[in-house]
Formats: sequence, structure tokens, C-alpha cells
Amino acid sequence: MSIEGWTVLITGASSGFGEAMAWRFAEAGCRLVLLARRQDRLENLRDQLIFTYRVPVHTICLDVRNFAEVDLLPQQLPKDFAKVDILVNNAGLALGTATVQDNNLDDAVTMIETNVTAVIAMTKAFVAGMTERNRGHIVNISSIAGVEAYGGGSVYCATKHALQAFTTAARHDLVGTAVRVTSICPGAAQTEFSLVRFKGDQEKADAVYNGFAPLTAEDIADNVLYACTRPEHVQIADILVLATNQC
Ligand code: NDP
Repeated sequence: MSIEGWTVLITGASSGFGEAMAWRFAEAGCRLVLLARRQDRLENLRDQLIFTYRVPVHTICLDVRNFAEVDLLPQQLPKDFAKVDILVNNAGLALGTATVQDNNLDDAVTMIETNVTAVIAMTKAFVAGMTERNRGHIVNISSIAGVEAYGGGSVYCATKHALQAFTTAARHDLVGTAVRVTSICPGAAQTEFSLVRFKGDQEKADAVYNGFAPLTAEDIADNVLYACTRPEHVQIADILVLATNQC
């Protein structure tokens, strides 16, 4: 199905999966709303996308944990971008590798608010417009950590399990509407994710990918585009994408 002319809002578009998706949606002829905290990154990406694909691009510099602002987003978007057809809840992070004995509560709250509460807020803000217009797709970027839990990642795994549950429940709530809901669960992919996790320690971040070829951001963008371009009656519920040699 063609999504040319559809408006796509991507959270966490300033790097990694979000940036790769922006390129793929632009190639498909979509109008883009790119959201993240790093304005310079977003503006640079916007300029490159407009130059390459001549598609309309709007940027929003916002922390998704600012729930009051998220609530106001649909009314504050410029008219040409206000009808969001595809919402990709991608912004997210892991912080640290603490055991349950050592979890840092500030990090835990940041992960819970970013990976879960913000998705609830973004979905609430945009789903009403989708059901009214009888067209829409919500794509949540979850993780293998939402399918299997592992030691040293209790909070991150808990957030992604919560996101999986929220996504499934959203699909049930939206039965009878035209809105589709998809969860994408990537395995290890080489982005800035590990650098954020290890709080800027490049050596530790690189060590995550020792011994296997990790996924790329483009691999995940491919799967998101696949889900969004299925015929209207097909709803891709979950896609688990792993690196071939990741155990
Ligand atoms: P990156 O660190 O490259 O990208 C994360 C994006 O989220 C950035 O654009 C960042 O932008 C944005 N972001 C983080 N916190 C906030 C916030 N509070 N408000 C707004 N934007 C925010 O990592 P990935 O692309 O790899 O991660 C994308 C998603 O994929 C995440 O949800 C992650 O959990 C998930 N994932 C990643 C895997 C991996 O191995 N890479 C594996 C499985 C899932 P900015 O800093 O500018 O705000």
C-alpha cells in the first residue's frame, strides 16, 4: 500500500533508528515531523531530507517526558503537519547495567518515563485524530528486552515488557477502527544506544558488539516501512528482528 503524502511523526529522530526511518519515510514520499531534544541534529537532518527528497519536514525540539507539552502537540503543529497518520514511538534509552541490588532510582525513573509514560502520552495525544479521520498506524519500537529479560537490565527490560503490554492492549482498544498498532522488537543494533547506556564510555559501548555483526539502524527502518505499507486489512502485530549471530 502506498503511504505517499501521509504525515509521519517520529520521536527520537535525531539519531539511530529514528534518523534511518526518517530517510525511508521521506523516500516513500511522506511528510515528516521529527522530534527529539537535540535541535541541531534535527535541523541538519531536515535540511538533508528536503534537499534529497523535496518532502515537507517539520522539527520539534522537545523532551518526551514533558507530558504537558506532549498533550498540546496536536494543536500546536503547523496546519500542514497536523494530521498525523503514522506515529512512531521510537525515543527510548537504557541507562547502566546495574543488578537489582544496585539499581539507580534516578536512572530507573528516566527509563520508565521515556520508554513507557511518554509512549502513553504520545499515543493519547494523537490517536483521537487517527480514529476521527479513519486512518492511522502506531508503531512502537520495543526490544528483544520486551520479550526476554536478562540480568543487569531489570529496569530496561521491565519498561520494554510494559511497552509490549501497552501495545497489545492498544491493539484491542482500537479494534473496529482503521488504526493499526505494531510493535517492532530489535535485537542488538549499532547506534548511539550503547554509548548512552554506558554514559559516554566508548570502549564499553563498542564491546557490546564484539564477536558478531550487529543490526544496523537501516535494518530496523526496513521493518518499520514493511509494517506500514501492508494492505489496509493486514495488521503486523509484532516483528522480532535479531542479528544473525546474536545469542
Ligand atoms: P539512539 O540513542 O541512537 O536514539 C535514541 C533517540 O531517542 C535519540 O534520537 C534521542 O534523541 C531520543 N531520545 C532519548 N530520550 C529522549 C527524550 N527524553 N525526549 C526526546 N527524545 C529522546 O538509539 P536507538 O536508535 O538504537 O534507539 C531507538 C529505540 O530503539 C529506543 O527505544 C531503544 O530502546 C530501542 N532499541 C534499541 C536497540 C539497540 O540495540 N540499538 C535494541 C532494541 C531496541 P535526543 O538525545 O536528541 O533527545
